[in-house]
Amino acid sequence: MINTLISSLFFAITITTAVPIRSSDTDVYICKGPRSKKYHHRKNCRGLKRCSTRIYKVCLKEATNKGRTLCGWED
Ligand SMILES: [Zn+2]
Repeated sequence: MINTLISSLFFAITITTAVPIRSSDTDVYICKGPRSKKYHHRKNCRGLKRCSTRIYKVCLKEATNKGRTLCGWED
């Protein structure tokens, strides 16, 4: 009886801790054109339509480290 309770509790803890916290490693999209200084949350953003290179997927931290700011088409 108590063993069942403990094992189900342990199971619940395992499930909870297994969920990754992804707040700090959000993926964003960037263009590597010479005048591109923005990052985008959406790959089909209007700000990426004029991109002359291919669109790269990087983590948010990487984009902001290089001085990129959020695209004006997004909020
Ligand atoms: Zn954008």
